[in-house]
Amino acid sequence: MIEVKNYIGGNWIAGSGDFFESYNPATGETLSQAPVSGAAEVRAAVAAARKAFDAGGWRWIKGSARAAALLKLADLLEARSRPISELIAREMGKPVTINMAREVEGAVDKLRYFAGAARFLEGHVTGSTAPELWDMVLPEPAGVAALIIPWNDPVDLAVRKLGAALAAGCTAIVKSSEVTPASTAALIEAVHDSGAFPPGVVNLLSGPGQPTGDARVDHPGVDKISFTGSTATGMRIMERAAKRLAKVSLECGGKFPAIICADADLERCLDAVTYGAFMYGGQSCTACTRLVVDRRLHDKVVEGVVERSRKLAMGDPLDPKVLVGPMASRKQYDKAVSYIRLGLSEGAKVAIGGPPKDESSLFLPPTVLVGAPVDGRVAREEVFGPVLLIHSFEDESEALAIANNTPYGLGGSVWSQDISRALRLARRLDVADVWVNTHYIRHVETSFGGRHHSGLGRELGMAGVEEYLSWKRLCIDTRSEFHLKSWFEGAVR
Ligand code: NAD
Repeated sequence: MIEVKNYIGGNWIAGSGDFFESYNPATGETLSQAPVSGAAEVRAAVAAARKAFDAGGWRWIKGSARAAALLKLADLLEARSRPISELIAREMGKPVTINMAREVEGAVDKLRYFAGAARFLEGHVTGSTAPELWDMVLPEPAGVAALIIPWNDPVDLAVRKLGAALAAGCTAIVKSSEVTPASTAALIEAVHDSGAFPPGVVNLLSGPGQPTGDARVDHPGVDKISFTGSTATGMRIMERAAKRLAKVSLECGGKFPAIICADADLERCLDAVTYGAFMYGGQSCTACTRLVVDRRLHDKVVEGVVERSRKLAMGDPLDPKVLVGPMASRKQYDKAVSYIRLGLSEGAKVAIGGPPKDESSLFLPPTVLVGAPVDGRVAREEVFGPVLLIHSFEDESEALAIANNTPYGLGGSVWSQDISRALRLARRLDVADVWVNTHYIRHVETSFGGRHHSGLGRELGMAGVEEYLSWKRLCIDTRSEFHLKSWFEGAVR
């Protein structure tokens, strides 16, 4: 069993109070034991991050020096790509092939981007003033950043935040998810072993939302909170942070619609949406959860998705041929099954899958539901599991009405070979992230975020780095006299 420790001020600190365990969801075996960090650990981590920030050794060094540290970390993470990918497979059930190709390699690429970003922190000087006035806006790091992540990408989601925060000159405290403490600790081990970061610049705490998360959100020494997770937790964090006006960004849930028009390239579309729906058991915020299909294609789409779902290789996540592993936890499994049952009670019919007969393991095969009412809960709420709904539409306005009929606004896609139609629909989809004729392409260069109940702020790209900046306006007057001198000369006697 792996013993996970907290990382505070450059030291690994074993827990002294309560512990919790993480499990291998494929076998049920205990994988790690990690500390439930309480108020004392939170105080120590914030003090270490605060000291490292206020001392200036990280925030005031040149961007090129911060870049060098991030590049060193990227190289070490790349060298450890296989063992870390295997650890993620064992701790959350995501297949090792996907971890290698997307999660860890993706995180390495992001660190290299953020290294570049550290050298591109730019403000601006206005050219519209009198030439003797130098009026400018300067980027400064926001301070101590609390980074809260979920379990579905325990390394990559941490790097999206950590890389951006470090590039901006912030110091950071990462809180891992209670489902995947060992996977995120493996990233922080690379931070430590790289020797590239002064003590206190990066810290790690493990523990659940309460008490660990709450204590960090409430701590006055934390300047910025960046959260990825469910909408309910995001709202709670924002409410608490509002009491002290801490800077907050939130990446929350989604209910991804794919609008499939009659002129879509159907084979390509069916491959992509089936992959998009069931890749690692639908446990991705931009998993495809609803197909909104031209009525004329409905039966063909159901048939095509069902046929492909049957072929998906499900099994041991350490097997390189497997594409779908177990659900990450019993909680997530039960949630997905309860939504399948809810869908049936709301009138949906099963095209494939349905409630499992044997619920003893956490392997949950794909379920496709047809005919669910568009105003029902299963059609509007996030499942975060391998459950795909298929609706049909008569015309574009109905397609958009169905697609936009949720409180979320994260991702969506449009499938049409008519570029005018595709763009018309893409602009009217009320989500912040749209794919046309594809799924799951993401680049660190373009920023990402959600609207409505899917969140606030951006991640990735330079906009993602700006989330960790605090702007300072600076005005320098080089004229020989104060510009309001006449005010004193004209004073009433
Ligand atoms: P969750 O909200 O239960 O937990 C997320 C993190 O918040 C965990 O580390 C948890 O310990 C912590 N937390 C819980 N309560 C807290 C509190 N009161 N204060 C501070 N921290 C607290 O979510 P989850 O089940 O871990 O993750 C699944 C969710 O994440 C889904 O809704 C999914 O859509 C979302 N997600 C969103 C994105 C995105 O980029 N928009 C990416 C991945 C996952």
